[in-house]
Amino acid sequence: QLYSLDSGEPRGALAADPPLEPTDAFLAELQRDSDALEKATPQEILKWAVDRFAPHFTMATAFGPEGMTIIHMLAEIAPETPIFNLETGYQFAETLELRETVKKRYGIEVQYKYPKTTVQEYEAANGGPVYKTDPNRCCFDRKLSVLHEAAKGWHAWASAIRRDQSPDRAKAPIVGWDRKFQLVKISPLANWTKKEVWSLITSENIPYNPLHDQGFPSVGCQPCTRAVLAGEDERAGRWSGFQKTECGLHSS
Ligand code: SF4
Repeated sequence: QLYSLDSGEPRGALAADPPLEPTDAFLAELQRDSDALEKATPQEILKWAVDRFAPHFTMATAFGPEGMTIIHMLAEIAPETPIFNLETGYQFAETLELRETVKKRYGIEVQYKYPKTTVQEYEAANGGPVYKTDPNRCCFDRKLSVLHEAAKGWHAWASAIRRDQSPDRAKAPIVGWDRKFQLVKISPLANWTKKEVWSLITSENIPYNPLHDQGFPSVGCQPCTRAVLAGEDERAGRWSGFQKTECGLHSS
């Protein structure tokens, strides 16, 4: 009950089916909720999110360590929560395999959301792989536009970001309005460190992408991910050679 945050007042807008409106009052309410959840555990935050937003609560995952941690927690708290993955057509075989592992271990079937074209069609229409020349456009076409479609109809989603991952993510609230996708974004692991994530993965034997044991701390699409060298930032292997560290999902 500590984090139920129930003021006793009706939350009519939150129970409605139409998209949520980011009115000033609603944004202020989210800020209060976020502040109140600042010291809550990730499990408590997820429980709060499910109580508050289900069945309009979802999660997008790329099956990273943080995402796997949240999937593990949701499997205990609310395994019916719909989870999806942006299947760009360029993901590693190991990542796709992890989806199967999640199904076996948790009985959770992560849904694929696909771009409008196959990789072959996309490359043929653009004279070759777009990720080589314009990764921002490729990410827009094969991730962001798909996510925009996938986000429609939901009121809230869980995000796997941690504040210590980058200066951009350092300001992430626990609960906030996702202006880009027009829904509430909940980051239960915002206050966790990489060490805490991996210690739970180890202690609970949570499945993870085997590429993490091969020098890939952050795994995205295969053509845009390389192993990192000792001392490099954990996202240095993403879009190496380009001035790009994010696919744009979490930037405002
Ligand atoms: Fe394209 Fe690379 Fe972005 Fe994947 S990560 S969508 S291959 S640019």
